[in-house]
Amino acid sequence: MHELPVTKHIVDIAENHCRDNGGERVLAVNLVIGDYSGYVGESIQIYFDVITENTLCEGAKCNIETVEPKLRCNKCGKLFTKQLLTFDCPYCDGQGEATEIGKEFYIKSIEIE
Ligand SMILES: [Zn+2]
Repeated sequence: MHELPVTKHIVDIAENHCRDNGGERVLAVNLVIGDYSGYVGESIQIYFDVITENTLCEGAKCNIETVEPKLRCNKCGKLFTKQLLTFDCPYCDGQGEATEIGKEFYIKSIEIE
């Protein structure tokens, strides 16, 4: 449910960006969403289509690039994708620790015309 306010915010930013740059309408909004960001891309896309009615974003595409979470090994320092039920490093006998990779949530670009 918390995707609704954040989607409204994204639409506001896209509209402002369009006006500020003399565009007539928004063609696409490209988002980057990490799997651990706490936001569900599909929900944002559904809200986006509803909220954008009668705005400069009407008919625009909401493209979402997802980011797989990565752990960093506490021994060798390599980044790796967490496997189910384990934090073991695949390169050595170290343990993976959480990183910021996978918590991304931002607008990558906005296409206007
Ligand atoms: Zn390691």
